[in-house]
Amino acid sequence: MMRPAATIAARALRPASFRWIRPATTSLIRRPATSSSSFRSFITATAPRRQEERKWSTPLAKQLFEAISLTGPVPLASYMRMCLTGDLGGYYTGAIGEGRDQFGTKGDFVTSPEISQIFGELIGVWFIAEWISQGRPKTGVQLIEVGPGRGTLMDDMLRTIQRFPAMASSIDAVYMVEASRELREAQKDLLCGPGAHSTESKAGYHSTSKYGDRPIVWTETIKSIPIEPSKMPFIVAHEFFDALPIHSFQAAESKSSPKTPSATAGSPDASAEASTADEPSSPTSLADPTPPAMEWREMMVSPTPPGATHADLKTPKSEQHEPVPEFQLILSSAPTRHSRYVPESSPRYRQLKQIPGAVVEVCPDASLYATDFATRIGGSPQHPKAQPSGAALIIDYGTSDTVPVNSLRGIRHHRRVNPFSAPGLVDLSADVDFTAIAEAATAASTGVEVHGPIRQGDFLELMGIRERAEMLAKTPGLSEEAARNMDKSWKRLVDRGPGGMGKVYKALSILPENDGRRRPVGFGGDVWEKSSSEA
Ligand code: SAH
Repeated sequence: MMRPAATIAARALRPASFRWIRPATTSLIRRPATSSSSFRSFITATAPRRQEERKWSTPLAKQLFEAISLTGPVPLASYMRMCLTGDLGGYYTGAIGEGRDQFGTKGDFVTSPEISQIFGELIGVWFIAEWISQGRPKTGVQLIEVGPGRGTLMDDMLRTIQRFPAMASSIDAVYMVEASRELREAQKDLLCGPGAHSTESKAGYHSTSKYGDRPIVWTETIKSIPIEPSKMPFIVAHEFFDALPIHSFQAAESKSSPKTPSATAGSPDASAEASTADEPSSPTSLADPTPPAMEWREMMVSPTPPGATHADLKTPKSEQHEPVPEFQLILSSAPTRHSRYVPESSPRYRQLKQIPGAVVEVCPDASLYATDFATRIGGSPQHPKAQPSGAALIIDYGTSDTVPVNSLRGIRHHRRVNPFSAPGLVDLSADVDFTAIAEAATAASTGVEVHGPIRQGDFLELMGIRERAEMLAKTPGLSEEAARNMDKSWKRLVDRGPGGMGKVYKALSILPENDGRRRPVGFGGDVWEKSSSEA
């Protein structure tokens, strides 16, 4: 039996230290593994003399090469977007063969909801606790999941919420935001029953949940879900933000003299310039005490020269048994369209700009999603909401208060691989910048507050994972092996050792603004039952 939310919440007695306060500027600065000067030598060598002979690992690799030959190197974010959700064989949108799965032991990676059913159950309990604390509305609840994978998390959440019939019947609709056609099908089979009927509308695809006949709507983007101030949106994002495309920038001395700042203004996008020969930055004269003017340069993706070796490309030893990557990062030789405004969006980046070689990764899409979530919950000038309501729970791996650097990774068959190899067949992801999400959410809406991020291990323990596991272990007829596996699984989710999921993954929540007086369960707070007249 599921423990009532209040019992779990009663255990959530963490001190107040987790409430989000704007953290100080990043303290973590690393240089890219390869220096910018060594990138330069490749820039001129990029265009192969006999292009027709080059064999590409995937159709997407060929398309990228052709596009870059025409326009010049592309921003890292464009490369990631094409590789993950592009029309031509993106990782989530088609390159993986029919019947092959990104998830699970036979796929490329395993996620928490796939490891243990308790994960989704406790997230269900988290939203039940919010529903209770926000006055148990009888209607108007929306459940929204972005990037639902196989649908396992939503399945475990809905099964749990079914045990709270008053909440289950308050759900108007479940929304699944999913870019992949194959995954949408898999989610429908799981949530609505195998081969369940669906209809198509302008908004997306519609079917009916096997849990209480609730309508389920699939959309490709969250923008297709109307923002309605009368609704109470409960939004969950698990391992979604790490799949959003990032830009990467490096601080460099400006080539134009500080006295003539207009020299760079209006210059064409350096994505086109980067394929031309680069000139080294002029060193600052020792006699000149004026600090050099600094600027951001963007890391761009360019094909590797034909015949390049691992040694030429300085690929890490761990990747040298793989084929030589077909693409690489190069530093743009001048500011780009994105480098002029993206890293200027927050004071966190501005301070780093003064440090030559400092790198920042910025994910504009993450800020857009955070802005969207905050607007749905707290309202905004464009979408006024008299009474903020709802909640968002974001769980992912990333940094709590520092700006991510060099965090792009490629994963294939459960191993780290070079992110610039086999485009479309390799999963790409990057650390989530939780502070940037918090900043974007609070900037978008005065009607929200942010709690966390806290470590997944702490969150799940506060939510009662240990007690729930003990209860499941008593399931009649459970074999010894199944009991052992179950024990291993939940402990894996809370493992706070080096690289452990309980430490690397973090949870952040966005709630209706309450002056920090009501912290949510799992973040050190308790369930707040309103008086019976209000409920
Ligand atoms: N939440 C799931 C899956 C994580 S993988 C789990 O934890 O198991 C990332 C998911 O996000 C996949 O379902 C992928 O298809 C989806 N996705 C990635 N980029 C997307 C985008 N830009 N828009 C919508 N869905 C996206």
